[in-house]
Amino acid sequence: MSKQKVAVITGSAQGIGKGLAERLAKDGFAIVLSDINEATLNAAVKEFQDKGINVTSMVGNVAKLEDQEALVQKAVDTFGSVDVFINNAGIEGQLGPITQVEPKLVDRILDINVKGVIYGIRAAANQMIKQGTGGKIINACSIAGQEGFEMLSPYSATKFAVKGLTQAAAKELAKFKINVNSYCPGIVGTSMWERIDEEMTKFMGTKKGEAFQKYAEGIALGRTQTPEDVANLVSFLASSNSDYITGQNILTDGGMVFN
Ligand code: NAD
Repeated sequence: MSKQKVAVITGSAQGIGKGLAERLAKDGFAIVLSDINEATLNAAVKEFQDKGINVTSMVGNVAKLEDQEALVQKAVDTFGSVDVFINNAGIEGQLGPITQVEPKLVDRILDINVKGVIYGIRAAANQMIKQGTGGKIINACSIAGQEGFEMLSPYSATKFAVKGLTQAAAKELAKFKINVNSYCPGIVGTSMWERIDEEMTKFMGTKKGEAFQKYAEGIALGRTQTPEDVANLVSFLASSNSDYITGQNILTDGGMVFN
């Protein structure tokens, strides 16, 4: 019998990351959950264990290389390998006019959304190269990595960075049979969007829920997205069906941004 493959997902205590982990568990992967929030992480681990999923976890900050390396080591010590590594953790950062961006908040979003992905790729790729059996590195991009969104300029900048990183890493790592791709969701009803909706009230003059609704009206398929919708794409990217795809930033947005 072949060994169970191992998927590591950052920012997986809730939201999209947790949805991806649930789907990859159904696909047959052993799961390594990781998050900066220990309480929500522990709750997610318990939920997974109650469902009989082969899971382990580690608290960590993606912005720290040492945490990313410890996460990879934890996966190897527990399950023997890292076959899929998903750089999912990300924050929306400061919302508002570019004329009012706060340097500290710009640093914070660059640390998490950009450096976090660089260090995740570094840690995962070194392990995959050592294993010699290839692998899949999958990054969280966004519609905001395809088109800049107003009031979300630092966020848009970080997601364009993820797009470039995905392309550069794919070119470098192809010779090791490591595929690097990203998923670009649209409007997913997670706590991230609850916070965006709340902040947008200041700039759009909207009431609670209205900004989410306004963005939702621009979706061709007529509904917002769930983590399961994102997981349908990521399941494919984590599987051998995507072996001939690398360096791509793939939209799953119900029809919002058209390339
Ligand atoms: P979320 O806020 O619901 O969950 C993000 C998780 O990441 C949280 O559990 C949080 O604790 C964790 N996290 C935050 N900072 C961290 C750090 N420094 N180290 C480790 N973990 C950290 O957000 P979400 O909506 O599930 O978003 C997940 C990813 O998808 C993000 O990269 C986001 O930019 C991207 N995305 C989301 C949407 C959307 O509409 N929600 C759309 C496009 C892209």
